[in-house]
Amino acid sequence: MIKSINPMNCFVCGKEKQDFEVWSNKLVIGITYDSDFQNNDIISNMSDKDIICHQCIIVIQKKVKDDLDSKNNFL
Ligand SMILES: [Zn+2]
Repeated sequence: MIKSINPMNCFVCGKEKQDFEVWSNKLVIGITYDSDFQNNDIISNMSDKDIICHQCIIVIQKKVKDDLDSKNNFL
């Protein structure tokens, strides 16, 4: 029997996720290199121990992009 590790809940949607479905805070910062994304309220509130699932990453990336697009439209 495989010992289950602590269940991991995405800190955004709260759903329980497998470890291959989630990113840690460090991974998020390391992979994106995107200051707009990292400055997002949700992402910047992530602690070292929080994890986030891929679906929420995609939602946030889209939101960040939409916000940028609407800012650019005012120029
Ligand atoms: Zn999530």
